[in-house]
Amino acid sequence: MLTGIEEAREAAASHLRQCRLCPRDCRVDRSRGQTGYCGLDGQIRCFREMLHPAEEAELSPSHQVYFAGCNLRCGFCTVAEWNEQPLAVGPLDMDWLVGRIEHRRGQGARNVNLLGGEPTVSLPGILSLLTRVPLSTPVVLNSNMYYNSDIDELLRTFVGVCLADLKCGNSECAGALLDARDYVDVARRNILMASRHCDLIVRHLILPGHMDCCLRPTLRWLAGAIPHVKLSLRTNYVPPATAGFAPMDYPSSGDILAATNEARGLGLRLIE
Ligand code: SF4
Repeated sequence: MLTGIEEAREAAASHLRQCRLCPRDCRVDRSRGQTGYCGLDGQIRCFREMLHPAEEAELSPSHQVYFAGCNLRCGFCTVAEWNEQPLAVGPLDMDWLVGRIEHRRGQGARNVNLLGGEPTVSLPGILSLLTRVPLSTPVVLNSNMYYNSDIDELLRTFVGVCLADLKCGNSECAGALLDARDYVDVARRNILMASRHCDLIVRHLILPGHMDCCLRPTLRWLAGAIPHVKLSLRTNYVPPATAGFAPMDYPSSGDILAATNEARGLGLRLIE
């Protein structure tokens, strides 16, 4: 069992030589500049940081730090340009980001909120960063939960709050929408593991036309597996600019009302 961030940093760094951080299992040597599905080499790359006033109320204001690169290809991604071409973003200046974290704490940030993209594909660099951040800074991991099971042990060393996406309810939609048919099984397994060691909030983005295939199976699974979990139903889906498998509509008020009523009917604990 790992006892601290420094030990986790060393364990994570070994992944850079033969990367198996996530189920893509690319086994590329990122330390030598090779890239796999996520497109990242051995460097960590940050494309945005901001104080966000409107994350879930218990987390806001939150210092969001966006890392480039992702291991999914969601057809409705709003930051796709940084995730599909992460090397277009320059390597992170760690001194600069450590300074921004201190600055944002001074502005009232309640936490530092790691997101992307998918932050776990940048885990070795994130752990290096965190060795330089005061231990009193609470860390939120905002993840798609698509990582290999042994990564959970590394996350335990620093994650205070896991803000976990659970995007789909079946393998067909996960394949078409995210390019990952195994996403649902992997994400559910990792959410269960996270529920044992950190404060867990599960987010589900309401997708128009995916009430029976994605929303309802997700709610039923949560009610059975983690009935006391905090659930955040997200209504901010934005249709993509070009047509594909992703829905081309916004969620209707009827979709949102039905989703909320069903979650409550199953006894789930909704948060905003
Ligand atoms: S983190 Fe990137 S390189 Fe590593 S296995 Fe996943 S997609 Fe491949």
